[in-house]
Amino acid sequence: MPELTDRPVSPVPQRLIDTHCHLNLPDFAEDLATVLDRAVSAGVEKIIVPGIDHATTESAKKMAEDHSAIFFACGIHPNESAGWQAGWAQQLEAAVSHPKCVAVGEIGLDYYREYSPWETQMAALLCQLDLAERFGLPVIIHCRQAFAALWPVLSAWHDRNPNNIGVLHAFDETAETVAEVTAKGFYIGIGGAYTYKNKPLREEILRAVPLEFLLFETDAPYLTPVPFRGKRNEPAYVRYTAEKAAAVKGIPPEKLFGAVYENSHRLFARLKECR
Ligand SMILES: [Zn+2]
Repeated sequence: MPELTDRPVSPVPQRLIDTHCHLNLPDFAEDLATVLDRAVSAGVEKIIVPGIDHATTESAKKMAEDHSAIFFACGIHPNESAGWQAGWAQQLEAAVSHPKCVAVGEIGLDYYREYSPWETQMAALLCQLDLAERFGLPVIIHCRQAFAALWPVLSAWHDRNPNNIGVLHAFDETAETVAEVTAKGFYIGIGGAYTYKNKPLREEILRAVPLEFLLFETDAPYLTPVPFRGKRNEPAYVRYTAEKAAAVKGIPPEKLFGAVYENSHRLFARLKECR
């Protein structure tokens, strides 16, 4: 397997999409313009900024209005759901109908942090799944140590309407789970954690993901890939995850990147309007 260096392997910038990037966090307040320039130079064509609460949904929307390459998702993250009220879903509706809102997210369950009671997280998830269904949008799912509770809910949501679909972002389950999830048509979001050494399980997961269900993401500023692990993550670094995936799957980068580009547009249909 080729070793990753601190320079991208493929010479020509490819059409990459960072499907999950928190550019609206204070980490990028000082140098957003140069971060976006570096993303363009690295072949990153579009970036999806998810909301985690009402304020970040609004700031993500504003960023999408200001920058052609930026799209957004609206949602209340499970860790931000402690004060959840049914009215919050209605509050999100204005953002959902925005032409550059590509998904409802990030939403889900986090039984690792427990910033919000489990039953509150579940109530917020169910309401936002309904919201996505009513507006015909996919969901971006955050799941941490909660798959056993999440999957029955998500698969029942899909079973009642086959158009109900989404991505399990920062996927951290097993190869067996990959088969279960992709059999229902859900996508798998792969980020910097997949470049970390001594993680044979993640390589096994990568090999198990069917080409048509793979998505790339950074989750910046978090989960920085090798060789920049320990520093702030940014959209340009999605290349390192993409190249690692190509190496592990034994697929030429240009072929893999092309397939994942199409996947991104298939799941997030509103990306197509600005292709
Ligand atoms: Zn995130």
